[in-house]
Order: sequence, then structure tokens, then C-alpha cells
Amino acid sequence: MKLDVNALRYLSKDDFRVLTAVEMGMRNHEIVPTELIDRIASLKHGGTYKVLKNLLKHKLLHHDASKYDGFRLTYLGYDFLAIKTLVNRGVFTAVGRQIGVGKESDIFEVATEDGTVLAMKLHRLGRVSFRAVKSKRDYLKHRRSYNWLYLSRLAALKEFAFMKALEEHGFPVPNAVDCNRHCVIMSLIQGYPLVQVKQLQNPDTVFETILGIVVRLAEHGLIHCDFNEFNIMINDDEKVTMIDFPQMVSVSHRNAQMYFDRDVECIFKFFRKRFNMSSEENPDDSDDSEAELEDGVRPEFSDIKKNSGFLDKELAASGFTRKDQDDIEKFIEVEIEDSVTDDEGNDNMDETEVKHFESLQLDEKEEDGKNEDEKSTKNDRKVETEDNSEDDNQVADEHGLEDGEQIEDEDEDDPELVKRLNKQRRRAVKAAHGGRRNLTSRNTYKDKGGRSSHNSKIQKQLSNW
Ligand code: ADP
Ligand code: MG
Repeated sequence: MKLDVNALRYLSKDDFRVLTAVEMGMRNHEIVPTELIDRIASLKHGGTYKVLKNLLKHKLLHHDASKYDGFRLTYLGYDFLAIKTLVNRGVFTAVGRQIGVGKESDIFEVATEDGTVLAMKLHRLGRVSFRAVKSKRDYLKHRRSYNWLYLSRLAALKEFAFMKALEEHGFPVPNAVDCNRHCVIMSLIQGYPLVQVKQLQNPDTVFETILGIVVRLAEHGLIHCDFNEFNIMINDDEKVTMIDFPQMVSVSHRNAQMYFDRDVECIFKFFRKRFNMSSEENPDDSDDSEAELEDGVRPEFSDIKKNSGFLDKELAASGFTRKDQDDIEKFIEVEIEDSVTDDEGNDNMDETEVKHFESLQLDEKEEDGKNEDEKSTKNDRKVETEDNSEDDNQVADEHGLEDGEQIEDEDEDDPELVKRLNKQRRRAVKAAHGGRRNLTSRNTYKDKGGRSSHNSKIQKQLSNW
């Protein structure tokens, strides 16, 4: 997918405020009613409709009037929110060329202020097969929260958490720099995916190193589940780096043995085919050599001393919970069962096409909101998790307001306030679904009796933009 970040520079505070309001509304609505967007955004001088039009023009939103008048974020809109947050945090200042595209992600180069180039992975979970999975799986049917926003965000969080933990245990992985929404920032690996490598100086050493990683992962309680020539990077010194972790599972997973064997088989198969390992090692007796390769070296899952739960502490420290793991596993399981290798589109890098970095000089004032921003991101995460754990939350299920939920969450010690907010929420829900679709009637929904803490808190959260 093209990522034209140019528009990012021209978007105003109000634009981002409304974009964020749509994001918030999407926790409980596939299509967020326009009235609700207006209400959440509460622009000081009104004008939500004009802003929506502008966002639509830049393809950051999609308009849907089939059931009621509303909007949803596009991938680009979500990308912009993540990129803006990370730029505000000072993680990078410019976005460069695309260096990879997988079935479930787009990878770009980004540059920091001092010119260091990093890799940015934007997760696109659900891009290809979410619909298919949705129809297959009962648990997804009644859970609006299992949308691509939520899943892509979980995938990014999982990838970030695993990368960090693996790095701490000395595994050859990229350095995990930061993570926001569906976006992971990591060090750029100077090298190529193994699939692009036609010759190796020491194929047997590389082969052993790679198998060693699979075994050591299992000893640490983990299976990669997509360990193949697309997800192993190699540099000119034949140093190996493994990438792509959202599908990793624990060795205690019920299909662990199968996943482990499959990872191992992928490596064997690739090295046999590409580097003709057996005949090269022993040109006179290729059959025996192959047998040795098959029987002598092949690691057995049952032989490995596994220490499951070993990385749990590190993962939890990155904010990735057991429940997150369960949620994403349910989704990804279907995918990895369906395909062993998926990345036919990965090899898309055009060496000659070096695009200049698009510098992202944003309004300096926005830096002020940095801490608030981080706080609200964490908050989002918290709310999202809780949101999804409440199957029977009637109000939330019936088009409840995410912002209301958050406030309820924060102020549960104040029953008076909770009562008031619930009342307000019911009113807003009624308004949003009561067929009052006339955009010019925006003011009808403004609180006449002074802004409630409901609005002021959202405003606080949104003031980062
Ligand atoms: P997917 O989950 O979509 O398969 P990957 O993480 O495997 O995504 O990345 C896709 C491609 O992007 C890789 O095959 C590789 O070419 C490139 N890539 C990913 N991460 C990095 C990185 N940190 N440094 C350099 N290239 C990378
Ligand atoms: Mg991959």
C-alpha cells in the first residue's frame, strides 16, 4: 500500500482531533455515526463536517451511509495516527521508501533526527483473510472489537514485546525501539531475506546456526511458527537475524510439536533445494549425506529441555498480557494452519528506486503534549483490553461510547459521576441512533449546562493533537 505522508504536514490540530474521535468511536462501532464523532471531538468552534470532508479527501476516512451516516478509519488514517504519535515522541522525523510488503504488513524505512535509519512495520492483520476467518469462527461473530484495528494493534504489541524479550536473551533479532497502535519501530537489518540469497560461503554453518536458533527458542519455551527463508535475514558476513514474530506460540500450545517440526522442515527443505547441501557436503555419496542430514542433525521436539513460561515476565513487562496472547492466537492459528509460507510479495524491493525521505516537520507546539500522549496511549490500551473482556457489557455492546467507558473506568470511585455519565451516555447513544442525522444540528448535542467532566476529559486526551 502506498504511504504518502505528505498530507501529514498539512493536517491541522482539528483534523487530528476528529481522526482520533473516529478511532475512539471504532471501539464499539464498525461505522462511527457522524453525530458521535462530532460529540467526541467537540471542536471548540464546530466545523466537524468540514474537517470530515478534508479527511475523506485525503483518504484517511471512509464514508458509509448505508445504515446511517458515519465514517470509519482507513489503514492510511490509522497509519497517520501512529506516525504522528511516534514523530511527536521524537522516535523518528522522516519516512522513506518501502522495503517490504508481507501479507500482513508493510515495512518502511524511517529516519531519526540524527540520520539513523530504522525500520517501521505497519501491521495489517485482517487485510487478506479477516472476512474468511470471521465467517469461520463463532467467537468473532458477536465481537465487534475483533476488528482489524484491534487485531493489528495486538499483533504490533506482541511483536514488540517478543522482540524485546528475545533480544534480552541474546537472540539475533532487530532492536525493538518503540511501538504505537499497529506500528513497530525497530533497527534496520543490513542484509537480505535468505530467500534472495543465491550463494553462501558457509552454508553448513548458516544452516547449523539457524537450526540452533529454533532449538534455543524451544528451550526458552517458544516456537516461531513461520520460521522460513522469508523471515531469516542474512548479511554479507553471513550473520543471521530472525524477524517477524506475531505468530509465535508457546511450547505448551496443543499443536506445538507440529509447529516445531514444520519450522525445522522448512529449513531443511530450503537448504536442500537452494544450497544442495547434501551433495556439496559429500559429493561422492549424496544419499548417505542426505540421510545424515535427515536423521543425524534433525532436532526432535521431545528431546529438547523446554522451559515454558521463561519469557513471561519480560513479555508482561512490555504490556503484552496472557489475554492478548490468547486473543491473537485464536485469530492467527487459522492463518498459520492455512499456509506455511505466505510472503510471496516480500521480495518487492527495487534496488534502483531510492526515494528521498519525506521529512515530517510537525507543529512544534504538539511536542508539549508528548507525555499526555503517551499516557493516553497506555490508557487506550488498558481500556481496550477491558473492553474486550466484557462480553455482557450491555451498553458497550449496544453502541456504547468508548469515551464514556474510559471515564467510568477512571472514576469508578465516584458513583455520582458514574451515574451522570451513564445517563449522558444513554442520551448520546439515543441521539446517535435516533435518526437525527442532520449534520447542521450539531449544536443540539452540545451540553448546554456547561461542559461536563465527560467532555473535558476527552478534550484533555485530545488536546495532544
Ligand atoms: P510479514 O509479517 O508481513 O511477513 P516481515 O516482518 O516478515 O512482515 O517483513 C517483511 C519483509 O520486510 C521482510 O522479508 C524483510 O525483507 C523486510 N524487513 C522486515 N523487517 C526488517 C528490518 N528490521 N530490517 C530490514 N528489513 C526488514
Ligand atoms: Mg514475514
